[in-house]
Amino acid sequence: MRASAAKQLTGETSGDASLRDPFGRAITYVRVSVTDRCDFRCAYCMAEDMTFLPRRELLTLEELDRLCSAFVEMGTRKIRITGGEPLVRRDIIGLFSSLSRHLEAGTLQEITLTTNGSQLARFAAELASCGVQRINVSLDTLDPARFKAITRRGDLDRVLAGIDAAQRAGLAVKINVVALKGVNEDEFEPMVRWAHARNMGITFIEVMPLGDIETSRFDQHLPLTKVRAQLAQHFSLQETDYRTGGPARYVRASETGRLIGFITPLTHNFCETCNRVRVTCTGTLYMCLGHEDAADLRTPLRASEGNHVLNAAIREAIGRKPKGHDFIIDRTNARPAVARHMSVTGG
Ligand code: SAM
Ligand code: SF4
Repeated sequence: MRASAAKQLTGETSGDASLRDPFGRAITYVRVSVTDRCDFRCAYCMAEDMTFLPRRELLTLEELDRLCSAFVEMGTRKIRITGGEPLVRRDIIGLFSSLSRHLEAGTLQEITLTTNGSQLARFAAELASCGVQRINVSLDTLDPARFKAITRRGDLDRVLAGIDAAQRAGLAVKINVVALKGVNEDEFEPMVRWAHARNMGITFIEVMPLGDIETSRFDQHLPLTKVRAQLAQHFSLQETDYRTGGPARYVRASETGRLIGFITPLTHNFCETCNRVRVTCTGTLYMCLGHEDAADLRTPLRASEGNHVLNAAIREAIGRKPKGHDFIIDRTNARPAVARHMSVTGG
């Protein structure tokens, strides 16, 4: 048997032995939640009183590196580090630093980060020196009191200082805004102007029904069709076919020349082109954000020092990736479609 065929059978794959799901979609993008903890308690994301996982259940940073590296060997080209708040995990820069070897080797195209920005002033320069080039910062308002109310404990000035530090370090910043009915509806236009004036992209996100929180999702849910209609009163919005491989659809505001993204998991189906899977901080692989089906990768990871068992578990799980999801929020479906919070699987 030729060596390459033998390698594939044993799960010892080379970079071109890509992971494909039953619908022929190549899985090239992995989002890794490195902690379920966070220094904020955003009202749409977490309950005020959250119970977090015991630390012993988390994968160590070395295990996270091994897991990410196994995906890279199987064709992953982009890794996004998320959480919880990834930058509150102790020594997290060590993970960025060790994964940067794949960037240097050219086997990984990109490591990105989604953060609430609270720790960015501290870490921006180190992230840049680990090869991170772009980050997403979640920011739903530019009003300090409102920011405190949404995040329940965040400090807007600190996040803004973090964004400054990131830009100074040369990181491209995109702002993610969750559109919240009756909360930040009057800020969409000023936030677009603010972001574009600072050379930052901006994307609006619909609230997704993930995890139990105190309030009803129906109270928070604002269809992005309304956000877009509102923005169209202030900007002339040109359709674009710009895609990042993700669920966002983009329009260009002629007045600023820059893009505005819309992520509409509830009102628009983006599953046909889905190239991603998610791994939690305990090593659970979720093949779809909207489904409960998952695979435990921690046990195979710890079962042996080689990657045979782990690779086989990953391939078996990708073989179960569903075709799509079906989130619904309306008056009769105000309960979460999926019980876990976004902070468990990452955004
Ligand atoms: N803590 C980091 C942050 O806030 O950017 C990373 C994790 S957070 C879970 C990732 C993204 O998910 C954030 O942009 C956040 O606004 C978004 N998010 C959290 N819960 C959500 C929900 N129920 N529906 C839609 N977006 C949500
Ligand atoms: Fe924390 Fe991000 Fe969730 Fe806000 S959205 S509570 S910052 S994990």
